[in-house]
Amino acid sequence: MPDPAAYVTVPAPGRECGGCTLCCKVYDVPALEKPAGTWCRHCRPGQGCGIHETRPPQCRSFHCLWMTQDWLGPEWKPDRSKIVLSVDPATRFLFAQVDPGAPAAWKRDPYYGQLKEWARAGAPERRHVVVFLNKSATVVLPDRDVPVGVLGPGERILTRETRDAGGVSLTVEKVAA
Ligand code: SF4
Ligand code: SF4
Repeated sequence: MPDPAAYVTVPAPGRECGGCTLCCKVYDVPALEKPAGTWCRHCRPGQGCGIHETRPPQCRSFHCLWMTQDWLGPEWKPDRSKIVLSVDPATRFLFAQVDPGAPAAWKRDPYYGQLKEWARAGAPERRHVVVFLNKSATVVLPDRDVPVGVLGPGERILTRETRDAGGVSLTVEKVAA
């Protein structure tokens, strides 16, 4: 799991969205009453934003992880991977928002293997990997994937360590924030 302290929020030199507009599909934009998983009515898919000068603050401030982190290879560009990566500022969890047009994209290689690696690396610090399909969340743990259903605005994911004869494992719950 990459060090959150090293994250930046501006595009890395040489990184450009180009023909990718996937963030304009996968996320909800409350200011536009746009639900997650449908194209924004202002998006020209593959070209860009039709209201670039007046787009909402949420859109202005967003750069996906592929844009800001040049150690993510070309395979992680969202229009190729069908996955938009971000870091949740509150929890520092790694969020992988999947294109509902390719809902199994995160299970393919090399993506699934890399998500599992990040899950292993982040587990000791409880910095987990969460895959979203629209608002439905699956926590990717080193040893298994745990679907937790729709994560509402007032909810968060909590993990706890449990110890038994088999060793230490993590349990996952959805709790009120
Ligand atoms: S998902 Fe990333 S690369 Fe694609 S349009 Fe959005 S910010 Fe640009
Ligand atoms: S307003 Fe523009 S940047 Fe924001 S989601 Fe719509 S098309 Fe994308």
